[in-house]
Amino acid sequence: MTSEAIVNIGVLATMDDGEGPLGLRRDAAVVIEDGRVAWIGASADAPAADSSYDAAGAAMIPGFVDSHTHAVFGGDRSAEFDARMSGAPYTAGGIRSTVAATRGASTEELAARTRHLLDEALRQGTTTAEIKSGYGLDLDTERRLLEVAARFTEETTFLGAHVVAPEMADRRGDYVDLVAGDMLAAAAPLARWIDVFCEEGAFDVEETRRILAAGRDAGLGLRLHANQLTMSGAAALGVEMGAASIDHCTFLSDEDVDALAASDTVATFVPGAEFSTRQPYPRIERLRDAGATWALASDCNPGSSFTTSMPFCIALAVRDMGMTPSEAIRAATRGGAQALRRNDVGRVAVGARADLALLDAPDPVHLAYRPGVPLVDRVWRDGVATTSWEPRAS
Ligand SMILES: [Zn+2]
Repeated sequence: MTSEAIVNIGVLATMDDGEGPLGLRRDAAVVIEDGRVAWIGASADAPAADSSYDAAGAAMIPGFVDSHTHAVFGGDRSAEFDARMSGAPYTAGGIRSTVAATRGASTEELAARTRHLLDEALRQGTTTAEIKSGYGLDLDTERRLLEVAARFTEETTFLGAHVVAPEMADRRGDYVDLVAGDMLAAAAPLARWIDVFCEEGAFDVEETRRILAAGRDAGLGLRLHANQLTMSGAAALGVEMGAASIDHCTFLSDEDVDALAASDTVATFVPGAEFSTRQPYPRIERLRDAGATWALASDCNPGSSFTTSMPFCIALAVRDMGMTPSEAIRAATRGGAQALRRNDVGRVAVGARADLALLDAPDPVHLAYRPGVPLVDRVWRDGVATTSWEPRAS
């Protein structure tokens, strides 16, 4: 057993026991043992450990839990972004260009790209990331994408129902059969979750219900892309089916908000997508008033939100969605963990994973107060200070 004491933490945001919504503890120390948090308390009382790190009064938070990424893909869509920012409208069709590039990339090329993105995310404080398939849209490529995702994370999601495969555009019923049948059977051993993009131009509510039910029968947990562009009824379906999370939630009816608040389904917001498509941002007030639980995620993808930065998402949520800084920081850590139904990440508590981000700042509020500034100074993942993303040992 090896142990490390991180001492002189000016403000430790535990998302657990402590003051206020962030569970703050001041002048704190954390002792790490075998990848887990073994002790939390006043720095002056820190027990002896094999090694010690002096945080010099800086703020510390749990590593971010990014519960929604599409971090396995080929190609680049900067030209499409350029055109959109120059006046062209956003459409879902761009996904197809990524599908073509992804199918044409080797598994090792895809894995190298994913590793690069995860390293980038880690340096900005992310220590847990969900990764979806969804740019293959045929059985072999979807399986390859999940194989790549599983090299890096335990939070793998089968998103064969991202859009209808282009070569089956006039046979959508056959495509739904394939996703809910053979493709799901190939994906299920590699995936923890199933997800569907329920939206005009993608899959309707009844197709979504069928695909999610098949995934549930195959032992997968449920997630949903819903209510991004329209008030579609998808969010209500997700709550009804017991989805862990409904993601986007840009347009919610009052009934959707009430249903979310009465359930243990998390509403996950991805303001990077609103930023990158110039859509209106969702507001948080109704969810707050109703007592719903929400998370923040990057939605890292090449078309509509090509960021890995959770601090950027926090800044957007505070500036444009009406979240308080504390609400946004909690949503990016504890909220993400709840969206993944995890209790071992997203908080600093004895027994939880020692996933920690030390900030070059005296208070976590700086994450929103100083947008665009690289404030994450040092990251521990499973108790090890690191700048590169490795699969978890256990
Ligand atoms: Zn997405």
